[in-house]
Amino acid sequence: MGTRTPAVERLMAGPLYRNEKQGELPDSWYVASADIPPDRPALRGAVSVDVCIVGAGFTGLSAARHLAAKGLDVIVVDAHRVGFGASGRNGGQVWSGYNYPHSEIAARYGAAHARDLWQITQDAKDTVRDLCATAIPEARFRPGIAECATKPGEVADMHREAAFLQDTYGYDAIRQLDRDDMRRLIKTTDYYGGTFDMGAGHIHPLRYVFGLARLAEAAGARIFERTEVHHIAEGDPVTLRTGKGQITAHHVILAGNGYLPNINRAVTAKILPANSYIAATEPLGDRAKDVLAEDIAVSDTKFVKTYYRLSDDGRLLYGGRAAYGIGFPKDLATEMGGRIEKMFPQLRGVRIDYAWGGTLGITATKLPAIQRVAPNIVSAAGYTGQGVALSGLAGKVLAEAIAGQADRFDTLATLDVPDFPGGLLLRDPIRRLAMTWFALRDRLGL
Ligand SMILES: Cc1cc2nc3c(=O)[nH]c(=O)nc-3n(C[C@H](O)[C@H](O)[C@H](O)COP(=O)(O)OP(=O)(O)OC[C@H]3O[C@@H](n4cnc5c(N)ncnc54)[C@H](O)[C@@H]3O)c2cc1C
Repeated sequence: MGTRTPAVERLMAGPLYRNEKQGELPDSWYVASADIPPDRPALRGAVSVDVCIVGAGFTGLSAARHLAAKGLDVIVVDAHRVGFGASGRNGGQVWSGYNYPHSEIAARYGAAHARDLWQITQDAKDTVRDLCATAIPEARFRPGIAECATKPGEVADMHREAAFLQDTYGYDAIRQLDRDDMRRLIKTTDYYGGTFDMGAGHIHPLRYVFGLARLAEAAGARIFERTEVHHIAEGDPVTLRTGKGQITAHHVILAGNGYLPNINRAVTAKILPANSYIAATEPLGDRAKDVLAEDIAVSDTKFVKTYYRLSDDGRLLYGGRAAYGIGFPKDLATEMGGRIEKMFPQLRGVRIDYAWGGTLGITATKLPAIQRVAPNIVSAAGYTGQGVALSGLAGKVLAEAIAGQADRFDTLATLDVPDFPGGLLLRDPIRRLAMTWFALRDRLGL
């Protein structure tokens, strides 16, 4: 038998352990700047509940909070820890809409349906903003996302899309920016204009996910960490096997997103794990103004987006794609530092204090996959880089569906999300090829 290469080892490990050790949060600026709650216990023995939720990120914890508030007996299990997944390590950008132009959603799904879909995303942002204003103030919602065109030809399309939102939904928090406006706001020559959305914003995602866990527990939900679900036997009740325990539940929510191993074919077929990376510079002090004139978040139009903002203590938190394989690159800090200096030459020599990666779930249409995979098993995943606001709302919508109120679940479940081609074995190589192709297009400006 030949020896396995590191790449093959990672592929075999499955998304939960490819780049991580069990229960270890990444060495991120978020971890360094949050109060880490004490470990929660792992599940041992047999337990019987109304609802079992697999995954303690925004989706799972939001669902848990709402279901427990309705008086149901709810447990959440996570293979690692609360906030271990994308929810605790993302760019913190609270976006409007989906990762898909809403004018195209209206053309495809009809005006009335599109309005409902838009309203869901508005509710998603409102929820984050309201929770930050009341129950989770430490997550600090700050308004404003600039979306920037990296090619001159994109500006007119972006302005038309903003006009569609203004005219169709009366969404006047967004405005069109030309090249000079953009350059006054962001101190790089890379952009040609775009939009500025004051209804969107940014948060400290790890503090927010810890806050969601606190609220779920206060409502009566129980959370178990270091508890991986290995196997699910459908039926009523559903039986879920974990390392040292067994759960029987009348309802199950699969909220593992890009980290979910192949324990449910219907979810796995629609969700591809993809990695994104963030670096935090040293605190910039007065130099912060040489990057961003205001305390806003920024993202661009590339297929493989670059996204960044300033932290509470004046660091540049700069995110994007550094590699296209399933493994995190070895010298991530150098790679990300090089990208920062290319975009902002005025930061030449800046020190990178933290660099980390995370895995998100993407879908073939970039629309989220909200589905009922068995009569009493539902799932929400595949927010395709736009889940900070959407995933929490999706969790609430799953909770509503379990409680018998399925209007918003049905609205989201109609979004067209086909299975990825290639079956389970070929999905990773196909994804890698596709990502490399799109990255090449970004680089060549095609
Ligand atoms: C680097 C990065 C930057 C991003 N930036 C942004 C951004 O700026 N704005 C935005 O809107 N979105 C962004 N995203 C995406 C966003 O973070 C996600 O869409 C969102 O956090 C998904 O939340 P979730 O709860 O569905 O999944 P996750 O937070 O990934 O949680 C899933 C959890 O399920 C657990 N799990 C999986 N399988 C099992 C199992 N079998 N048994 C037990 N537990 C299991 C995992 O351990 C994990 O903790 C980013 C993602 C990454 C990785």
